[in-house]
Amino acid sequence: MDMLIGGKHVSSDDLEEVKNPYNGEVIDTIPIAHLQTAELAIAEANKAKDSLCEMSAFKVSNKLFDVVEKLKDNREDFARLLTLEVGKPINESLVELDRSIETLKLAAEEAKRIYGESVPLDAGLNGKGFFAFTQRVPLGVVAAITPFNYPLNLTIHKIAPAIACKNTVIVKPPTEAPLTVMKFCELLNDEFPDGVVNTVTGYGSEVGDYLVTSPDVNKISFTGSITTGLMISQKAGMKKVTLELGGNDPMVVLKDANIDKAVKGVINGAFLNAGQVCMGVKRIIIEDEIADEFAEKLVMETEKLVMGNPLSSDTTLGTLISEKAARHVEETVNNAVKEGAKILTGGVRDGAFYEATVIDNVTQDMDLVVRETFGPVAPIIRVGSIEEAISVANDTEYGLQAGVFTESYSSAMKCAQEIEAGTVFINKQSTFRTDNMPFGGFKSSGVGKEGIKYAVEEMTKTKLIGLNLR
Ligand code: NAP
Repeated sequence: MDMLIGGKHVSSDDLEEVKNPYNGEVIDTIPIAHLQTAELAIAEANKAKDSLCEMSAFKVSNKLFDVVEKLKDNREDFARLLTLEVGKPINESLVELDRSIETLKLAAEEAKRIYGESVPLDAGLNGKGFFAFTQRVPLGVVAAITPFNYPLNLTIHKIAPAIACKNTVIVKPPTEAPLTVMKFCELLNDEFPDGVVNTVTGYGSEVGDYLVTSPDVNKISFTGSITTGLMISQKAGMKKVTLELGGNDPMVVLKDANIDKAVKGVINGAFLNAGQVCMGVKRIIIEDEIADEFAEKLVMETEKLVMGNPLSSDTTLGTLISEKAARHVEETVNNAVKEGAKILTGGVRDGAFYEATVIDNVTQDMDLVVRETFGPVAPIIRVGSIEEAISVANDTEYGLQAGVFTESYSSAMKCAQEIEAGTVFINKQSTFRTDNMPFGGFKSSGVGKEGIKYAVEEMTKTKLIGLNLR
């Protein structure tokens, strides 16, 4: 599939194969662009700014709604392609499509709500006699750099609000799973003037880095790992940056919790998308009194998951993004076992598959839970009190989301107030998001928020206009 720059299809002498992680078959090839192509995309995106700004909010909104309809019409085709390139079960891909449609719809609505406010300058010294108001104006060119795990919805979380508030966009999709994003940008391009949306494929370290450092890009909206995010924040210079980074989300299960509900939370939270979810349940922190019963029930439910061809609607556990990624998970789990952890179920790799794994007797210093393990693993850390649970939950550089299971209001509120995370859910696992909510982590998990209204705030700047009426 070609790139799309200034409304034209663009290729490169260098091509890379996009492979299905399930069977290794080549799905398509993509161009590996170099600096000149990134430069061309930046020029085209800058050129298109006026044509987008001249469109009324009414028209931008309607055009986005037209894309919603097109995406709905192509829902099954997109979901199939997503499953082929990521290896996630088809039912999960269909959910990603539904969320993508919803995200786009929210942006189409938000395009009509870009408000300013009147500002009483007469409340300040010498301000009498002014009429002043603010406007939210676009930043200019937004570069959207996105990861492989939810490529379509996470990219729409950037492109759609950017266009809703009249920024042009350059998308750098993940090299391992670029195709659904590129296909989606074709739909958008059919509705908007040439150059409003551009795609540049190639390596993050080359074209991604070029976008980050270019003075002609006004904002970087990045979702990916902490390592890359940190590099971006150091190189971006004066441009605005939003960073949605990794998570190591705790699920705190207190002794008065509804155990069945918590077990269901782990199944939906630790194994979704083969555990490759930023807000996945990555550490189960549970009070001793109920840990044995919880572990037994969790093993029973985990063993019901069906690993198989991701295109089959019976499959509930697909592959990881690559065999390399699965090997890394295998090695991390094996190291934890060497240090004293105990596998209760799972622990076996087959190509890019890794079995859903429950692992007990984990301690907070094991690499398995110190760093983000991006695979279908549910590590159990046993604790003696709510205070210890909160302390373990906070003993990490991450702070994306958290889930707490308890039937007590006071325990729920204590955890909600003391756990350092962008979101704390009570009686729900961290692996939950609606596309309108403010989403973004504390600590090293990120800078800034997404969720359409919040993304629009981060993709506009405030201008004050003051009329001296005296
Ligand atoms: P990644 O390796 O950081 O890659 C993300 C994107 O950055 C890719 O498009 C990559 O391009 C590009 N990139 C790589 N190096 C770059 C550089 N030097 N400059 C600019 N761009 C560069 O992350 P990943 O492995 O794809 O994704 C997994 C991570 O994302 C996990 O840590 C996960 O928790 C996090 N994540 C966070 C959220 C959130 O909302 N907080 C959501 C989903 C995932 P290439 O593909 O060409 O390398």
